[in-house]
Amino acid sequence: MTSLVWLRHDLRIHDNPALYNAAELAQGVVAVYIHCDAYVRLHTIAPAQLDFVRRHLLIMAGELASLNIPLLVFRVKETSEIAPALLRIAQRLQAGYCYFNAEYPLNELNRDHAVNQLLRANGILVKRCHDRCIVPPGMIRNGQGEPYKIFTAFKKKWLHTVMPLTLKPLPAPARQAALATVQPAARDEIDQLFAGHELHELSAFWPAGEQEAYRRLDLFIEQSLSHYQDQRDFPAIEGTSGLSPYFAVGSLSPRQAITAVLAYIRGEWEGGNAGANCWLGELIWREFYQHVVVDYPQVCKRKAMQPHTEAFPWRYDKTLFTAWCEGKTGIPIVDAAMRQLNATGWMHNRLRMVVAMFLTKNCQIDWRWGEDYFMSQLIDGDFAANNGGWQWSASTGTDAAPYFRIFNPVSQSERFDPNGEFIRKWVPELAHLPNKHIHNPPALDNYPRPIVDLAASRKDTIARFAQLLPVKP
Ligand SMILES: Cc1cc2nc3c(=O)[nH]c(=O)nc-3n(C[C@H](O)[C@H](O)[C@H](O)COP(=O)(O)OP(=O)(O)OC[C@H]3O[C@@H](n4cnc5c(N)ncnc54)[C@H](O)[C@@H]3O)c2cc1C
Repeated sequence: MTSLVWLRHDLRIHDNPALYNAAELAQGVVAVYIHCDAYVRLHTIAPAQLDFVRRHLLIMAGELASLNIPLLVFRVKETSEIAPALLRIAQRLQAGYCYFNAEYPLNELNRDHAVNQLLRANGILVKRCHDRCIVPPGMIRNGQGEPYKIFTAFKKKWLHTVMPLTLKPLPAPARQAALATVQPAARDEIDQLFAGHELHELSAFWPAGEQEAYRRLDLFIEQSLSHYQDQRDFPAIEGTSGLSPYFAVGSLSPRQAITAVLAYIRGEWEGGNAGANCWLGELIWREFYQHVVVDYPQVCKRKAMQPHTEAFPWRYDKTLFTAWCEGKTGIPIVDAAMRQLNATGWMHNRLRMVVAMFLTKNCQIDWRWGEDYFMSQLIDGDFAANNGGWQWSASTGTDAAPYFRIFNPVSQSERFDPNGEFIRKWVPELAHLPNKHIHNPPALDNYPRPIVDLAASRKDTIARFAQLLPVKP
Protein backbone atom coordinates (compact mmCIF):
# COMPACT_ATOMS: atom_id res chain seq x y z
CA MET A 1 0.00 0.00 0.00
CA THR A 2 1.48 3.38 -1.04
CA SER A 3 2.01 6.08 1.57
CA LEU A 4 2.08 9.81 1.04
CA VAL A 5 4.48 11.94 3.03
CA TRP A 6 3.37 15.55 3.12
CA LEU A 7 6.48 17.71 3.53
CA ARG A 8 6.26 21.15 5.11
CA HIS A 9 8.95 22.66 7.35
CA ASP A 10 10.86 19.38 7.58
CA LEU A 11 12.93 19.49 4.40
CA ARG A 12 15.43 16.76 5.20
CA ILE A 13 15.93 13.07 4.57
CA HIS A 14 17.57 12.09 7.87
CA ASP A 15 15.81 12.13 11.22
CA ASN A 16 12.50 12.81 9.55
CA PRO A 17 9.94 10.66 11.46
CA ALA A 18 7.14 11.05 8.88
CA LEU A 19 9.39 9.97 6.04
CA TYR A 20 11.11 7.23 8.00
CA ASN A 21 7.91 5.69 9.39
CA ALA A 22 6.18 5.79 6.02
CA ALA A 23 9.09 3.99 4.41
CA GLU A 24 9.14 1.34 7.16
CA LEU A 25 5.49 0.52 6.70
CA ALA A 26 4.61 0.98 3.07
CA GLN A 27 5.40 -0.57 -0.20
CA GLY A 28 6.02 2.61 -2.07
CA VAL A 29 6.35 6.12 -0.70
CA VAL A 30 5.53 9.35 -2.50
CA ALA A 31 6.56 12.71 -1.05
CA VAL A 32 4.31 15.70 -1.68
CA TYR A 33 4.97 19.40 -1.24
CA ILE A 34 2.06 21.85 -1.55
CA HIS A 35 2.77 25.53 -2.01
CA CYS A 36 -0.11 27.72 -0.83
CA ASP A 37 -0.24 31.35 -2.04
CA ALA A 38 -2.53 32.44 0.82
CA TYR A 39 -0.17 30.99 3.42
CA VAL A 40 2.69 33.09 2.06
CA ARG A 41 0.52 36.21 2.10
CA LEU A 42 -1.05 35.66 5.54
CA HIS A 43 2.23 34.85 7.22
CA THR A 44 4.20 37.51 5.31
CA ILE A 45 6.81 34.86 4.46
CA ALA A 46 10.05 36.55 3.45
CA PRO A 47 11.20 36.33 -0.19
CA ALA A 48 14.51 35.11 1.27
CA GLN A 49 12.80 32.18 3.00
CA LEU A 50 10.68 31.34 -0.04
CA ASP A 51 13.80 31.09 -2.14
CA PHE A 52 15.53 29.04 0.55
CA VAL A 53 12.61 26.60 0.47
CA ARG A 54 12.80 26.48 -3.35
CA ARG A 55 16.50 25.64 -3.23
CA HIS A 56 15.90 22.99 -0.57
CA LEU A 57 13.19 21.35 -2.67
CA LEU A 58 15.49 21.17 -5.69
CA ILE A 59 18.13 19.39 -3.61
CA MET A 60 15.67 17.16 -1.83
CA ALA A 61 14.00 16.04 -5.05
CA GLY A 62 17.33 14.49 -6.13
CA GLU A 63 18.01 12.92 -2.74
CA LEU A 64 14.53 11.42 -2.58
CA ALA A 65 14.78 10.14 -6.17
CA SER A 66 17.92 8.20 -5.22
CA LEU A 67 15.75 6.37 -2.65
CA ASN A 68 13.03 5.75 -5.25
CA ILE A 69 10.76 8.23 -3.46
CA PRO A 70 9.32 10.59 -6.06
CA LEU A 71 8.67 14.18 -4.95
CA LEU A 72 5.46 15.66 -6.36
CA VAL A 73 4.72 19.36 -6.05
CA PHE A 74 1.41 21.24 -6.25
CA ARG A 75 0.31 24.84 -5.94
CA VAL A 76 -2.98 26.03 -4.45
CA LYS A 77 -4.36 29.54 -3.95
CA GLU A 78 -6.18 29.11 -0.64
CA THR A 79 -5.48 27.10 2.49
CA SER A 80 -8.92 25.49 2.19
CA GLU A 81 -7.78 23.85 -1.07
CA ILE A 82 -4.98 21.88 0.64
CA ALA A 83 -7.09 19.04 2.09
CA PRO A 84 -9.00 18.38 -1.20
CA ALA A 85 -5.69 18.51 -3.11
CA LEU A 86 -4.15 15.90 -0.83
CA LEU A 87 -7.23 13.71 -1.13
CA ARG A 88 -7.07 13.86 -4.94
CA ILE A 89 -3.39 12.89 -4.91
CA ALA A 90 -3.97 10.08 -2.41
CA GLN A 91 -6.87 8.69 -4.42
CA ARG A 92 -4.97 8.91 -7.71
CA LEU A 93 -2.06 6.98 -6.18
CA GLN A 94 -4.35 4.67 -4.23
CA ALA A 95 -2.47 5.64 -1.10
CA GLY A 96 -3.68 4.20 2.19
CA TYR A 97 -1.72 6.48 4.49
CA CYS A 98 -0.70 10.10 4.74
CA TYR A 99 2.19 10.96 7.06
CA PHE A 100 3.29 14.39 8.19
CA ASN A 101 5.29 16.00 10.98
CA ALA A 102 3.26 18.22 13.31
CA GLU A 103 3.32 22.02 13.20
CA TYR A 104 1.97 23.88 16.19
CA PRO A 105 0.72 27.43 15.49
CA LEU A 106 -3.09 27.69 15.37
CA ASN A 107 -3.54 28.13 11.59
CA GLU A 108 -1.34 25.12 10.96
CA LEU A 109 -3.22 23.05 13.56
CA ASN A 110 -6.54 23.96 11.92
CA ARG A 111 -5.18 23.16 8.46
CA ASP A 112 -3.93 19.77 9.62
CA HIS A 113 -7.20 19.05 11.41
CA ALA A 114 -9.10 19.66 8.15
CA VAL A 115 -6.73 17.32 6.28
CA ASN A 116 -7.12 14.66 8.94
CA GLN A 117 -10.92 14.81 8.81
CA LEU A 118 -11.22 14.70 5.03
CA LEU A 119 -8.68 11.94 4.48
CA ARG A 120 -10.02 9.77 7.27
CA ALA A 121 -13.57 10.21 5.98
CA ASN A 122 -12.29 8.76 2.71
CA GLY A 123 -10.56 5.80 4.29
CA ILE A 124 -7.03 7.17 4.27
CA LEU A 125 -5.21 6.92 7.58
CA VAL A 126 -3.40 10.03 8.76
CA LYS A 127 -0.26 9.64 10.86
CA ARG A 128 0.98 12.73 12.66
CA CYS A 129 4.58 12.51 13.89
CA HIS A 130 6.62 14.93 15.99
CA ASP A 131 9.96 16.31 14.88
CA ARG A 132 9.96 20.03 15.57
CA CYS A 133 10.60 19.71 19.30
CA ILE A 134 12.38 17.08 21.37
CA VAL A 135 9.41 17.10 23.75
CA PRO A 136 6.11 17.69 21.92
CA PRO A 137 3.98 20.59 23.21
CA GLY A 138 1.57 19.64 25.98
CA MET A 139 4.01 17.32 27.71
CA ILE A 140 5.85 19.76 29.95
CA ARG A 141 3.60 20.56 32.88
CA ASN A 142 3.98 21.88 36.43
CA GLY A 143 2.75 20.10 39.57
CA GLN A 144 -0.82 21.35 38.95
CA GLY A 145 -0.77 20.00 35.40
CA GLU A 146 -0.55 23.52 33.95
CA PRO A 147 1.82 24.86 31.30
CA TYR A 148 4.78 26.95 32.38
CA LYS A 149 4.86 30.70 31.85
CA ILE A 150 8.40 31.19 33.10
CA PHE A 151 11.28 29.95 31.01
CA THR A 152 13.61 28.92 33.86
CA ALA A 153 11.00 26.59 35.34
CA PHE A 154 10.17 25.21 31.89
CA LYS A 155 13.85 24.58 31.24
CA LYS A 156 14.29 22.71 34.52
CA LYS A 157 11.35 20.44 33.77
CA TRP A 158 12.43 20.01 30.15
CA LEU A 159 15.91 18.87 31.24
CA HIS A 160 14.39 16.56 33.82
CA THR A 161 12.22 15.03 31.07
CA VAL A 162 14.85 14.76 28.37
CA MET A 163 18.04 13.84 30.22
CA PRO A 164 17.05 10.19 30.83
CA LEU A 165 16.07 9.70 27.18
CA THR A 166 18.36 8.13 24.64
CA LEU A 167 18.35 10.59 21.81
CA LYS A 168 19.17 8.94 18.56
CA PRO A 169 18.39 10.61 15.24
CA LEU A 170 16.65 8.38 12.72
CA PRO A 171 18.54 7.26 9.62
CA ALA A 172 17.42 8.07 6.08
CA PRO A 173 14.35 6.10 5.01
CA ALA A 174 14.91 2.69 3.45
CA ARG A 175 15.30 2.67 -0.33
CA GLN A 176 11.97 1.76 -1.91
CA ALA A 177 11.10 -0.44 -4.84
CA ALA A 178 10.72 1.78 -7.90
CA LEU A 179 7.20 3.12 -8.52
CA ALA A 180 7.15 3.01 -12.30
CA THR A 181 3.85 4.89 -12.59
CA VAL A 182 4.81 8.06 -10.69
CA GLN A 183 6.89 10.74 -12.41
CA PRO A 184 8.75 13.00 -9.95
CA ALA A 185 8.50 16.78 -10.33
CA ALA A 186 10.96 18.29 -12.79
CA ARG A 187 13.15 21.24 -11.72
CA ASP A 188 10.91 23.57 -13.73
CA GLU A 189 7.82 22.47 -11.85
CA ILE A 190 9.51 23.27 -8.54
CA ASP A 191 10.53 26.72 -9.80
CA GLN A 192 6.99 27.31 -11.09
CA LEU A 193 5.56 26.88 -7.60
CA PHE A 194 7.04 30.25 -6.72
CA ALA A 195 6.30 32.10 -9.98
CA GLY A 196 4.75 35.49 -9.27
CA HIS A 197 6.18 35.64 -5.74
CA GLU A 198 9.14 37.88 -5.01
CA LEU A 199 12.20 35.73 -4.32
CA HIS A 200 15.41 36.90 -2.66
CA GLU A 201 18.26 34.60 -3.59
CA LEU A 202 20.78 34.61 -0.77
CA SER A 203 22.73 31.47 -1.56
CA ALA A 204 26.04 33.28 -1.00
CA PHE A 205 25.12 33.69 2.70
CA TRP A 206 22.85 30.69 3.07
CA PRO A 207 23.57 27.66 0.86
CA ALA A 208 20.69 25.21 0.99
CA GLY A 209 20.44 21.58 2.05
CA GLU A 210 20.87 19.30 5.02
CA GLN A 211 24.51 18.58 4.13
CA GLU A 212 25.22 22.30 4.48
CA ALA A 213 23.38 22.32 7.81
CA TYR A 214 25.57 19.45 9.13
CA ARG A 215 28.70 21.19 7.85
CA ARG A 216 27.77 24.35 9.76
CA LEU A 217 26.80 22.42 12.86
CA ASP A 218 30.15 20.56 12.91
CA LEU A 219 32.14 23.73 12.28
CA PHE A 220 30.29 25.60 15.00
CA ILE A 221 30.80 22.80 17.53
CA GLU A 222 34.48 22.50 16.69
CA GLN A 223 35.33 26.18 16.52
CA SER A 224 32.86 28.20 18.57
CA LEU A 225 30.80 26.09 20.97
CA SER A 226 33.22 26.23 23.90
CA HIS A 227 33.37 30.05 23.73
CA TYR A 228 29.68 30.52 22.96
CA GLN A 229 28.76 31.96 26.35
CA ASP A 230 31.44 34.68 26.03
CA GLN A 231 31.07 35.50 22.35
CA ARG A 232 27.40 35.12 21.53
CA ASP A 233 26.47 38.73 22.32
CA PHE A 234 29.03 40.42 20.07
CA PRO A 235 27.61 40.91 16.56
CA ALA A 236 31.00 41.61 14.96
CA ILE A 237 32.16 38.10 15.97
CA GLU A 238 30.80 34.94 14.37
CA GLY A 239 30.11 33.54 17.83
CA THR A 240 26.70 31.96 17.20
CA SER A 241 25.84 28.98 15.03
CA GLY A 242 23.91 30.70 12.21
CA LEU A 243 21.74 27.58 12.10
CA SER A 244 18.34 29.24 12.59
CA PRO A 245 17.44 29.26 8.86
CA TYR A 246 18.08 25.50 8.73
CA PHE A 247 15.95 24.87 11.83
CA ALA A 248 13.22 27.07 10.34
CA VAL A 249 12.82 25.10 7.10
CA GLY A 250 13.67 21.85 8.85
CA SER A 251 16.87 20.87 7.07
CA LEU A 252 18.23 20.36 10.61
CA SER A 253 16.28 18.85 13.50
CA PRO A 254 16.78 19.81 17.15
CA ARG A 255 17.50 16.15 17.89
CA GLN A 256 20.38 16.14 15.41
CA ALA A 257 21.78 19.33 16.92
CA ILE A 258 21.49 18.17 20.51
CA THR A 259 22.96 14.74 19.84
CA ALA A 260 25.94 16.34 18.10
CA VAL A 261 26.54 18.59 21.12
CA LEU A 262 26.11 15.70 23.56
CA ALA A 263 28.61 13.63 21.57
CA TYR A 264 31.08 16.51 21.82
CA ILE A 265 30.65 16.86 25.59
CA ARG A 266 30.53 13.08 26.07
CA GLY A 267 26.92 12.98 27.15
CA GLU A 268 27.42 15.20 30.18
CA TRP A 269 24.28 17.28 30.32
CA GLU A 270 25.02 20.46 32.27
CA GLY A 271 28.61 19.27 32.69
CA GLY A 272 31.73 21.43 32.63
CA ASN A 273 31.38 22.94 29.15
CA ALA A 274 29.79 26.34 29.81
CA GLY A 275 29.47 27.10 26.09
CA ALA A 276 27.60 23.88 25.41
CA ASN A 277 25.27 24.46 28.39
CA CYS A 278 24.52 27.93 27.20
CA TRP A 279 23.79 26.80 23.62
CA LEU A 280 21.54 23.99 24.87
CA GLY A 281 19.69 26.68 26.79
CA GLU A 282 19.01 28.52 23.52
CA LEU A 283 17.65 25.37 21.92
CA ILE A 284 15.36 25.04 24.94
CA TRP A 285 14.17 28.66 24.41
CA ARG A 286 13.30 27.56 20.89
CA GLU A 287 11.20 24.70 22.26
CA PHE A 288 9.63 26.92 24.92
CA TYR A 289 8.13 29.22 22.30
CA GLN A 290 6.85 26.23 20.28
CA HIS A 291 5.05 25.10 23.44
CA VAL A 292 3.73 28.61 24.14
CA VAL A 293 1.82 28.78 20.83
CA VAL A 294 -0.05 25.61 21.75
CA ASP A 295 -0.65 26.40 25.41
CA TYR A 296 -1.58 30.06 24.84
CA PRO A 297 -3.21 30.07 21.38
CA GLN A 298 -4.27 33.71 21.80
CA VAL A 299 -0.73 34.64 20.71
CA CYS A 300 -1.60 33.19 17.29
CA LYS A 301 -4.54 35.62 17.02
CA ARG A 302 -2.41 38.75 17.18
CA LYS A 303 -3.14 39.07 20.89
CA ALA A 304 -0.74 39.95 23.68
CA MET A 305 0.03 37.07 25.99
CA GLN A 306 -0.64 39.40 28.96
CA PRO A 307 -4.10 40.84 28.19
CA HIS A 308 -3.70 43.99 30.32
CA THR A 309 -0.88 45.20 28.06
CA GLU A 310 -3.37 45.51 25.18
CA ALA A 311 -4.33 48.85 26.75
CA PHE A 312 -0.91 50.35 26.05
CA PRO A 313 -1.42 53.31 23.67
CA TRP A 314 0.80 52.06 20.85
CA ARG A 315 1.56 54.52 18.08
CA TYR A 316 1.06 53.88 14.38
CA ASP A 317 3.52 56.46 13.04
CA LYS A 318 4.53 55.45 9.53
CA THR A 319 7.43 57.93 9.32
CA LEU A 320 9.13 56.53 12.42
CA PHE A 321 8.39 52.98 11.32
CA THR A 322 9.80 53.47 7.82
CA ALA A 323 12.98 54.99 9.24
CA TRP A 324 13.35 51.92 11.46
CA CYS A 325 12.71 49.48 8.59
CA GLU A 326 15.22 51.21 6.36
CA GLY A 327 17.94 51.58 8.98
CA LYS A 328 17.74 55.39 9.05
CA THR A 329 16.87 56.07 12.69
CA GLY A 330 20.02 58.02 13.56
CA ILE A 331 20.92 55.38 16.18
CA PRO A 332 23.93 53.64 14.60
CA ILE A 333 23.57 50.19 16.16
CA VAL A 334 19.85 50.05 15.26
CA ASP A 335 20.57 51.14 11.70
CA ALA A 336 23.45 48.68 11.30
CA ALA A 337 21.24 45.82 12.54
CA MET A 338 18.30 46.71 10.29
CA ARG A 339 20.60 46.98 7.28
CA GLN A 340 22.09 43.58 8.13
CA LEU A 341 18.55 42.17 8.20
CA ASN A 342 17.55 43.77 4.89
CA ALA A 343 20.71 42.58 3.13
CA THR A 344 21.19 39.08 4.56
CA GLY A 345 17.75 37.98 5.80
CA TRP A 346 19.21 37.42 9.26
CA MET A 347 20.03 39.48 12.35
CA HIS A 348 22.13 38.72 15.39
CA ASN A 349 20.05 37.82 18.47
CA ARG A 350 21.40 40.64 20.69
CA LEU A 351 20.46 43.11 18.00
CA ARG A 352 17.01 41.61 17.47
CA MET A 353 16.35 42.49 21.12
CA VAL A 354 17.90 45.96 20.75
CA VAL A 355 15.92 46.94 17.63
CA ALA A 356 12.69 45.43 18.96
CA MET A 357 12.99 47.34 22.25
CA PHE A 358 13.86 50.52 20.38
CA LEU A 359 10.78 50.20 18.15
CA THR A 360 8.38 49.32 20.96
CA LYS A 361 9.77 51.22 23.94
CA ASN A 362 11.37 54.30 22.38
CA CYS A 363 9.20 54.74 19.27
CA GLN A 364 6.19 53.18 21.11
CA ILE A 365 5.15 51.45 17.87
CA ASP A 366 2.90 48.41 18.12
CA TRP A 367 5.05 45.29 18.39
CA ARG A 368 2.85 43.62 15.75
CA TRP A 369 4.23 45.99 13.11
CA GLY A 370 7.74 44.92 14.03
CA GLU A 371 6.76 41.26 14.14
CA ASP A 372 5.33 41.49 10.60
CA TYR A 373 8.32 43.34 9.25
CA PHE A 374 10.71 40.75 10.69
CA MET A 375 8.71 37.92 9.13
CA SER A 376 8.75 39.73 5.79
CA GLN A 377 12.56 39.83 5.83
CA LEU A 378 13.86 36.89 7.89
CA ILE A 379 15.19 33.81 6.18
CA ASP A 380 14.77 32.08 9.57
CA GLY A 381 11.25 33.49 10.12
CA ASP A 382 9.45 31.16 12.51
CA PHE A 383 6.08 32.23 13.91
CA ALA A 384 6.68 30.90 17.44
CA ALA A 385 10.22 32.25 17.90
CA ASN A 386 9.42 35.57 16.26
CA ASN A 387 6.22 36.18 18.19
CA GLY A 388 7.95 35.09 21.40
CA GLY A 389 10.88 37.44 20.75
CA TRP A 390 8.64 40.39 19.96
CA GLN A 391 6.32 39.87 22.93
CA TRP A 392 9.36 39.47 25.18
CA SER A 393 10.85 42.74 23.94
CA ALA A 394 7.53 44.59 24.17
CA SER A 395 6.91 43.28 27.73
CA THR A 396 3.58 41.83 26.62
CA GLY A 397 4.58 38.17 26.52
CA THR A 398 5.21 35.17 28.66
CA ASP A 399 8.32 35.62 30.79
CA ALA A 400 8.72 39.02 29.15
CA ALA A 401 11.37 41.62 29.90
CA PRO A 402 9.96 43.72 32.79
CA TYR A 403 8.55 46.96 31.32
CA PHE A 404 10.90 49.15 33.36
CA ARG A 405 14.05 47.39 32.09
CA ILE A 406 14.55 49.07 28.74
CA PHE A 407 17.78 48.59 26.81
CA ASN A 408 19.51 51.84 25.95
CA PRO A 409 20.66 51.16 22.37
CA VAL A 410 23.69 53.44 22.73
CA SER A 411 24.93 51.66 25.89
CA GLN A 412 24.21 48.29 24.25
CA SER A 413 26.30 49.40 21.29
CA GLU A 414 29.20 50.55 23.50
CA ARG A 415 29.09 47.28 25.37
CA PHE A 416 28.64 44.77 22.56
CA ASP A 417 30.31 46.54 19.61
CA PRO A 418 32.98 48.42 21.57
CA ASN A 419 35.19 49.20 18.58
CA GLY A 420 32.27 49.94 16.29
CA GLU A 421 33.32 47.20 13.85
CA PHE A 422 29.77 46.04 13.23
CA ILE A 423 28.52 49.60 12.78
CA ARG A 424 31.33 50.45 10.35
CA LYS A 425 30.50 47.40 8.24
CA TRP A 426 26.82 48.21 7.81
CA VAL A 427 26.73 52.01 8.13
CA PRO A 428 29.67 53.04 5.96
CA GLU A 429 28.82 56.73 6.23
CA LEU A 430 30.01 56.53 9.87
CA ALA A 431 33.14 54.47 9.16
CA HIS A 432 35.48 57.45 9.52
CA LEU A 433 34.34 58.30 13.05
CA PRO A 434 36.58 57.49 16.04
CA ASN A 435 35.31 54.92 18.53
CA LYS A 436 34.22 57.58 21.00
CA HIS A 437 31.72 59.07 18.50
CA ILE A 438 30.61 56.05 16.54
CA HIS A 439 27.86 54.95 18.95
CA ASN A 440 26.33 58.41 19.25
CA PRO A 441 27.61 60.54 16.37
CA PRO A 442 27.63 64.36 16.20
CA ALA A 443 25.51 66.08 13.51
CA LEU A 444 26.66 64.97 10.05
CA ASP A 445 25.48 65.92 6.56
CA ASN A 446 24.91 62.36 5.41
CA TYR A 447 23.47 60.71 8.54
CA PRO A 448 20.13 61.49 10.28
CA ARG A 449 19.77 62.85 13.80
CA PRO A 450 18.04 60.37 16.20
CA ILE A 451 14.35 60.09 15.33
CA VAL A 452 13.37 59.97 19.03
CA ASP A 453 14.81 61.27 22.28
CA LEU A 454 15.97 58.09 24.02
CA ALA A 455 15.77 59.35 27.60
CA ALA A 456 12.41 61.11 27.31
CA SER A 457 10.73 58.25 25.41
CA ARG A 458 12.03 55.72 27.91
CA LYS A 459 10.58 57.71 30.82
CA ASP A 460 7.25 58.13 29.05
CA THR A 461 6.97 54.40 28.22
CA ILE A 462 7.69 53.37 31.81
CA ALA A 463 5.06 55.82 33.08
CA ARG A 464 2.45 54.53 30.59
CA PHE A 465 3.17 50.88 31.40
CA ALA A 466 2.96 51.62 35.12
CA GLN A 467 -0.64 52.77 34.65
CA LEU A 468 -1.78 49.49 33.07
CA LEU A 469 -3.70 47.34 35.47
CA PRO A 470 -3.45 43.56 35.16
CA VAL A 471 -6.80 42.12 34.03
CA LYS A 472 -8.32 39.79 36.61
CA PRO A 473 -9.06 36.30 35.21
C1 LIG B 1 12.41 40.07 18.26
C2 LIG B 1 12.98 38.70 18.00
C3 LIG B 1 12.55 37.98 16.89
C4 LIG B 1 13.07 36.69 16.63
N1 LIG B 1 12.62 36.00 15.54
C5 LIG B 1 13.08 34.75 15.31
C6 LIG B 1 12.61 33.99 14.21
O1 LIG B 1 11.73 34.39 13.45
N2 LIG B 1 13.17 32.75 14.00
C7 LIG B 1 14.12 32.24 14.82
O2 LIG B 1 14.59 31.11 14.59
N3 LIG B 1 14.55 32.93 15.89
C8 LIG B 1 14.09 34.16 16.15
N4 LIG B 1 14.55 34.86 17.23
C9 LIG B 1 15.48 34.20 18.17
C10 LIG B 1 16.98 34.40 17.88
O3 LIG B 1 17.27 35.75 17.69
C11 LIG B 1 17.48 33.61 16.67
O4 LIG B 1 17.05 32.28 16.78
C12 LIG B 1 19.01 33.61 16.62
O5 LIG B 1 19.49 34.92 16.49
C13 LIG B 1 19.46 32.76 15.46
O6 LIG B 1 20.85 32.81 15.31
P1 LIG B 1 21.73 31.51 15.52
O7 LIG B 1 21.17 30.39 14.75
O8 LIG B 1 23.15 31.91 15.26
O9 LIG B 1 21.51 31.25 17.06
P2 LIG B 1 22.34 30.42 18.17
O10 LIG B 1 22.76 31.42 19.19
O11 LIG B 1 23.38 29.59 17.55
O12 LIG B 1 21.23 29.53 18.83
C14 LIG B 1 20.93 28.20 18.37
C15 LIG B 1 19.48 28.07 18.00
O13 LIG B 1 18.67 28.24 19.16
C16 LIG B 1 17.45 28.87 18.79
N5 LIG B 1 17.35 30.15 19.50
C17 LIG B 1 18.36 30.92 19.93
N6 LIG B 1 17.88 31.98 20.62
C18 LIG B 1 16.53 31.86 20.61
C19 LIG B 1 15.46 32.65 21.15
N7 LIG B 1 15.68 33.77 21.84
N8 LIG B 1 14.20 32.25 20.93
C20 LIG B 1 13.95 31.11 20.23
N9 LIG B 1 14.91 30.33 19.70
C21 LIG B 1 16.19 30.70 19.89
C22 LIG B 1 17.50 29.10 17.27
O14 LIG B 1 16.86 28.02 16.64
C23 LIG B 1 19.01 29.07 17.00
O15 LIG B 1 19.33 28.71 15.68
C24 LIG B 1 14.04 36.15 17.51
C25 LIG B 1 14.46 36.89 18.62
C26 LIG B 1 13.94 38.16 18.86
C27 LIG B 1 14.42 38.93 20.05
